[in-house]
Amino acid sequence: MKILTPIKRVLDYNLKVRVRPDSSGVDLTNLKMSMNPFDEIAVEEAVRLKEKGIATEIVAVSIGPEQAQETLRTALAMGADRGILIKVDHDVEPLAVAKLLKAVIAAEAPELVFLGKQAIDDDCNQTGQMLAALLDWPQATFAYRVTVEGRQAVVVREVDGGLMSVAVDLPAIITVDLRLNEPRYASLPNIMKARKKPIDMKAPGDYGVDVAPRLKVLKVAEPPKRAGGVKVKTTAELVDKLKNEAGVL
Ligand code: AMP
Repeated sequence: MKILTPIKRVLDYNLKVRVRPDSSGVDLTNLKMSMNPFDEIAVEEAVRLKEKGIATEIVAVSIGPEQAQETLRTALAMGADRGILIKVDHDVEPLAVAKLLKAVIAAEAPELVFLGKQAIDDDCNQTGQMLAALLDWPQATFAYRVTVEGRQAVVVREVDGGLMSVAVDLPAIITVDLRLNEPRYASLPNIMKARKKPIDMKAPGDYGVDVAPRLKVLKVAEPPKRAGGVKVKTTAELVDKLKNEAGVL
């Protein structure tokens, strides 16, 4: 079974987001970029299925700038077999990503596609769902546990206040949630080995997909700064402030 893992290069999740002075977007200058954390979980799950002898090949694909090769190398060091970089130098919206992935899937014929449930930069949570719709494949989103049994995957999903189990026929799209697994750190020998694994360089035109943005960002703003706290001397003073200043009582 071949598994496809689309991975996005995003601002490292440990860093504080800075908005550009002209409010046109997030300032990424000289900042560390990493694999979207949910995509690490997706790659880990694919690698575990390979270790169990269920998957035979894992192909990682990224749509992004030249530097997304580094992100692909991380996936290769974790255990993916080869990579595909579709080089685009601007942000690509989920629908265009889904169209490109559909074309990659037509060429690669994977039976499972593991995506992150969302990319932490745009928080869209759209690509997996759009891809399933374009392919007319079954989808299981927010996976908490995945078991592949023959021609089916049983997916336990995280839903509000509990878990839901669904079975999907393969081929299928699965988007992964935070608690599915804990991704491994690539070992040094595996990082060295990953350098020799192939990465195919492609362009959107190779797949006949128009990646021009359909949305116009009007403004990006930081959340309002939190005001400092105050100490009150008595409960009466607290109640008064809650009533008359905060207006919550
Ligand atoms: P989103 O819908 O943007 O929140 O992204 C959901 C998931 O789609 C991500 O976790 C990735 O698995 C995949 N994805 C989104 N954008 C890209 C991209 N540029 N390259 C590869 N995969 C992507």
